[in-house]
Amino acid sequence: MPLCDGVRVSWLRFEFIFLVAPSFSMNSVSRLFFLLPACMLLLAACSNQSQDVRESRFIMGTLVQFTISGVEEGMALEAIRAAAAEMQRIEDVFTIYGTQANAVKAFNASVPGEVVALPGEVDSLLKTSIEVAQQSGDAFTPVIGSLSILWGFSLPEVPVAPPSELDIVTALIGVDTQMLVHESKGWKRLNSQTQLDFGAIAKGYAIDRGIAVLREHGIGNAIVDAGGDLRAIGDHAGKPWRIGLRHPRKEGATLGWFEASGDISIVTSGDYERFFLYQGKRYQHILDPQSGMPAERSSSATVISVANATIADAWSTALFVSGAEGLPLLESRGMQGLLVDADGQMHASKLTILPFHPSAQ
Ligand code: ADP
Ligand code: MG
Repeated sequence: MPLCDGVRVSWLRFEFIFLVAPSFSMNSVSRLFFLLPACMLLLAACSNQSQDVRESRFIMGTLVQFTISGVEEGMALEAIRAAAAEMQRIEDVFTIYGTQANAVKAFNASVPGEVVALPGEVDSLLKTSIEVAQQSGDAFTPVIGSLSILWGFSLPEVPVAPPSELDIVTALIGVDTQMLVHESKGWKRLNSQTQLDFGAIAKGYAIDRGIAVLREHGIGNAIVDAGGDLRAIGDHAGKPWRIGLRHPRKEGATLGWFEASGDISIVTSGDYERFFLYQGKRYQHILDPQSGMPAERSSSATVISVANATIADAWSTALFVSGAEGLPLLESRGMQGLLVDADGQMHASKLTILPFHPSAQ
């Protein structure tokens, strides 16, 4: 189904790749937050070429596309430059990969019982993460670091086989937020296997900070799309932004599209970007904190929320792990979800925040 009059999805996908290619740099590639683009689920917003300014950067291991509508080009480019710098800063603060030191890595390497001071925004995102862990029955948890590193989906070497059962059981001992203790001077962990991993929430936080910086630069109509996780503000020359939702199994196809205006986040966790096949079985990067194995109930989980991409990001991971039975929990928190389960069945909340237009399948 076309996303804009006379524009086909495949064209939009091509345009997306074409525009972002010049922004790759070895420097940013070497500072991968995630190994591969996360979801690439939402393809692109339709654009009125004469009015939009579009720029892309490689940040957090994914292509971040900025689209700004309705302002003069110089102003838009300056705003994008500042927003991209802020998002890169956030990657550096939160990543547990690469060689650059940060407080999160220092925490993960600390002696159990030792109190580590975390910068204000890490402390704050950790508290938010613990709340979502509690609310989601630990489907999302920020203490999955040792298990994530064991599986290795975000390491430079793509894994070729699952880890041993013993190693999984050992790493799982640390996947418990009760092993984190907050004190006046900082945080301590009670077990060496308890390691932080903000991989399922920091991208949403970076998107929120990117939008905040755009607004500080006077931008009111924009999309920040980090490989399919996005927040859209304002509108597109007086009309809603149109945003395609990627089909998890059909390359280049969409499940449908949303019309967004005001301040909306649409964030997806999918199984189709970072995975490997071993003995005919697919292993993907979103882990079930109960079993220590890749979550198996979903192939794509999308969360739609008003504003806050941080929360939407964490909940998209939680929904992916919980599967369709997680939808009521999500709705009770004022968000809506769209889930494609492992059998390819679509499950949706009552879509009150945004209209969704399914593609003809
Ligand atoms: P994507 O990275 O594709 O946007 P997510 O937002 O779901 O997808 O984040 C997945 C990342 O979060 C993984 O690469 C890993 O670092 C971490 N992670 C995996 N499983 C969980 C989980 N159950 N809870 C919290 N973080 C997780
Ligand atoms: Mg997430």
